[in-house]
Amino acid sequence: MMETSGKNSLRFFALGGGNEVGRSCHILQFKGKTIMLDAGVHPAYQGYASLPFYDEFDLSTIDVLLISHFHVDHAASLPYVMQKTNFQGRVFMTHPTKAIYRWLLRDFVRVTSIGSSSGGQDDNLYTDEDLADSFDKIETIDYHSTVDINGIKFTAFHAGHVLGAAMFQIEIAGVRVLFTGDYSRELDRHLNSAEVPPLPSDVLIVESTFGTATHEPRANRERKLTQLIHSTVSRGGRVLLPVFALGRAQEIMLILDEYWSQHAEELGGGQVPIYYASNLAKRCMSVFQTYVNMMNDDIRKKFRDSQTNPFIFKNISYLKNIDEFQDFGPSVMLASPGMLQSGLSRDILERWCPEAKNLVLITGYSVEGTMAKFLMLEPDTIPSISNAEATIPRRCQIEEISFAAHVDFQENLEFIEKISAPNIILVHGESNPMGRLKSALLSNFASLKGTEGEVHVFNPRNCIDVILEFKGVKIAK
Ligand SMILES: [Zn+2]
Repeated sequence: MMETSGKNSLRFFALGGGNEVGRSCHILQFKGKTIMLDAGVHPAYQGYASLPFYDEFDLSTIDVLLISHFHVDHAASLPYVMQKTNFQGRVFMTHPTKAIYRWLLRDFVRVTSIGSSSGGQDDNLYTDEDLADSFDKIETIDYHSTVDINGIKFTAFHAGHVLGAAMFQIEIAGVRVLFTGDYSRELDRHLNSAEVPPLPSDVLIVESTFGTATHEPRANRERKLTQLIHSTVSRGGRVLLPVFALGRAQEIMLILDEYWSQHAEELGGGQVPIYYASNLAKRCMSVFQTYVNMMNDDIRKKFRDSQTNPFIFKNISYLKNIDEFQDFGPSVMLASPGMLQSGLSRDILERWCPEAKNLVLITGYSVEGTMAKFLMLEPDTIPSISNAEATIPRRCQIEEISFAAHVDFQENLEFIEKISAPNIILVHGESNPMGRLKSALLSNFASLKGTEGEVHVFNPRNCIDVILEFKGVKIAK
C-alpha cells in the first residue's frame, strides 16, 4: 500500500466510496503533500464495520482534510478520525456545514448507540465529548475563497445538493484537482446549483450515484409527490416520508407547505396535519433560518418580499418524539433517519405498514443493505427492530419519487464536459451504475482517443491506486 511513486506522479485511492455509496473517504498524494477528502460512515453497517478502511493508511501523514457536506456518508467518521487516530492535520468545511455537523452527529451518536446490536457502548465509534472536542478544531472556509497551507491551495465552490455543500478545487504545484462531493445542477427551491470553477482542472473526482439514469423533470416529480400524498390522505391513509433529518427534508417541506396553503379548505387548519419528527428539528431549522443569505435568489426574494422567514412553516408542526404524537386520522409524517435503519422513522414504519391504505414514500437515495432499499422490493413482511424474531406484515403502498439532489446522467455529462479534465475518477456509486457511467463517458469521448486531448476514466475499487503522471507540463509556483 505504501509504495512511493515518482515525484511527478499523483496518487489517488479510496478508503471508502470506491464502487459503493457510503463511507466516502479519498486520499490524494502529490509532491509530498497528502489530502483527505471526506470522512463518512456506511449507513448499512454499524460500529467499526461502518468506517472507511483507515487501517490501510497512515493517517498521521495527512496535511489537510476537506469535508464536502454534512451527510453521514461524508462526515460521520470525522470525530473518530480526529479523536481516536493519529491524525494531526487541519480540517476544513463551510460555515453551514459546521453549524449543522454538531447537532446532526450528536443525533448520530444517540441513534447508533441505541441501534447497536450489543446495545452497549462497545460499538460506539465516539462519544458526545469526542464530538465537542473535534468541533473546536474544525476550521471554516467561505465559498470562493482560497486557503493556502504549505503549498496546498484549495477553494470552495457551490455544489447544490444540501445547504453548505461544497466542491473543492485543490491545487498543488500547478496541478488542479476538482472534487465534486455530492452535487446537483437542477434549479431547486432553495439552493444555488453547482457551479463550474473559473480555472480548468487536470483531474476531476466526480460522484456517479445515478449512473446513466435520467430524472423526470422536476415539475412532474413535484406534481406526482403532492398528488400521491393528497390522494392517500383523502382516503384516510397515513403517509410516512423517511428523510434524512436535514437537507433534502427542508426542500420537501417547502413543497408541502405551499401545497397545503393552496388547498387550505381540504387540508389546512389541522384537518390533515403534517409533522416533522426529529429531535433535531427546532435547532436545525434555526440554522436554515440563519443561512438564508447563502441560498438562491428565489428564496431570498421571497424572504425580502414577505418579510417572513420561508423556513417558518404554516402547515407543519414539530414532533420531538413519538410519545407526544396523537395518531388519529390521516397525517403526513416526515421522520428521520432516511433509510429506516432505526430510530423514529423505523418505529412509525412498523406501526403503519400493516395497513393497506397507508403509504411509505421514499424521496432520498437508498443505500444497498438498508431497510429503505429492502422495502422497494415490496416484501410481504419486514423484521421488527426491537425483536429480531418477530416479523410484521407489510401491506402499505411503497413508492419512490427522487428528490435526492444528485445529478442524473445528462446533468453529470454536461458538467463533466464543461470541466473538460483529461482525467476523470468516478466515486460514490454502486458498481453497476458506475460501470455504465464509465462506458458512456468513454464512448462520449471516443473521438479524442489517441489524440492529445484523450480523456481517461477510472472507476477504482476501495484501496486500489490510480497513478497519474504530470511530467514537466506544469510550472510550480
Ligand atoms: Zn449527500
